[in-house]
Amino acid sequence: MNFVYTGLPARVLFGDGTLAQARAELERLGVHRALVLSTPQQQAPAEALAQQLGDRSVGTCPLAVMHTPVAVTEQALQRVTAERVDGLVALGGGSTIGLSKALALRTDLPQLVIPTTYAGSEMTPILGETKDGVKTTLRSLEVLPEVVLYDVALTLGLPTALSGVSGLNALAHAVEALYAQDHNPIIDLFALEGIAALARALPRIATSPNDREARADALRGAWLCGACLGAVGMALHHKLCHTLGGSFDLPHAQTHAVVLPHAAAYNTSAVPQVMTKVAQALGTTGSAARGLFELARAVGAPTSLDALGMPKAGLERALGLALANPYWNPRPLEAEGLRGLLEAAWAGTAPD
Ligand code: NAD
Repeated sequence: MNFVYTGLPARVLFGDGTLAQARAELERLGVHRALVLSTPQQQAPAEALAQQLGDRSVGTCPLAVMHTPVAVTEQALQRVTAERVDGLVALGGGSTIGLSKALALRTDLPQLVIPTTYAGSEMTPILGETKDGVKTTLRSLEVLPEVVLYDVALTLGLPTALSGVSGLNALAHAVEALYAQDHNPIIDLFALEGIAALARALPRIATSPNDREARADALRGAWLCGACLGAVGMALHHKLCHTLGGSFDLPHAQTHAVVLPHAAAYNTSAVPQVMTKVAQALGTTGSAARGLFELARAVGAPTSLDALGMPKAGLERALGLALANPYWNPRPLEAEGLRGLLEAAWAGTAPD
């Protein structure tokens, strides 16, 4: 019955066309010289945003890449210093938001974050950075964005394949939040509503990417799932994805999409009631694990590690890595069970 809930401070604007309010938000934050961050792929919309911000922006910095390399952050930091930047605007997914957080950690500058994927980083005080091939993760309120501006219009251009895997990445935060060691009934509400919204929206987006109602549902779901990741600890699924992504250079969101049904299957015997709630939120009459697998199929996501380019010979190494660093999970980590999980995820076998 007793529990602890820690609310995280954030001002959130949600809607269709909210990007028009970006300049007013910078004014509110007292920012006069904002740097607009993006990946090289999103340089064009970042340039357009810098234009829109007018004399409140010093321009763009399209340097963001996956896994937030410290070398890139240091390069961007030089620009921050040289241009006397007094605020950060991140337009993009987890990679761009990672760069923004890394700069905020070093400068304490305020952040206006405008997410264009469903990864959920904007709602977390978590930053993963890479140096010399090693990724380290920290939690600090210094990296939590001050303002998050969700604009459904910006997600219409997210390719359908990326929309599906990104949404499943978000869903994984919610599933693991429900059985987290420090789970609580407040975050459970976020998690179940996040799962339901994404399960409704993602298959519709796969066939009609311009369906604004489905896009709004997915973005709201991603917000709720991101809040789950920010509020409670994660378990087997996130650790496995972290290990597989880092050791075999697998793509982030796609790895989440493949592993989630199998991690759910592994944990079902330890938390059957939680998995019943997940299945209900997914709207399936079968198991949660099977429902997650079917959802991945329905959105056209890859369903096997094989398809992501992981060599079968790597499975034993992955198992060793997963067992080397014991961490909390509702079902204890057992070599045989984990081997079965990894083999099923590699082959793309549907869980029961
Ligand atoms: P991403 O940010 O790497 O984006 C993938 C690609 O899609 C990029 O080329 C990007 O420019 C492009 N893109 C993004 N939005 C688009 C749009 N609307 N239209 C067209 N193209 C678009 O992908 P991601 O999955 O959002 O982020 C993954 C990274 O985020 C990983 O490094 C992961 O570790 C991190 N992450 C961190 C947290 C956290 O809390 N710290 C949470 C989730 C993910």
